[in-house]
Amino acid sequence: MTIQEHYIYNNSNLPKAGWIHACIECREYTSKTIFFKVIQHKNVIHEFHIHCCPRCKKRHSNISNYIEFSKMCDNIIMGKYKSLFPSG
Ligand SMILES: [Zn+2]
Repeated sequence: MTIQEHYIYNNSNLPKAGWIHACIECREYTSKTIFFKVIQHKNVIHEFHIHCCPRCKKRHSNISNYIEFSKMCDNIIMGKYKSLFPSG
């Protein structure tokens, strides 16, 4: 079993290989990530980390904000990594 890590963040001009990326919600630059979920596909475990600034993360203590955040992340992951999900 191998593990692949994926980092999800907003579009920006920052270098893709760096630690700093745009917050998924407000686009502020941040190195902070949230460990969002794991998806197992064949023999690979895919770990998804979301770049999220401390200010947006604070809002997640409100459950409806968190639900909104998690739906958004699921949509992004499903769009970007279609092959991990059964088609149809
Ligand atoms: Zn933010």
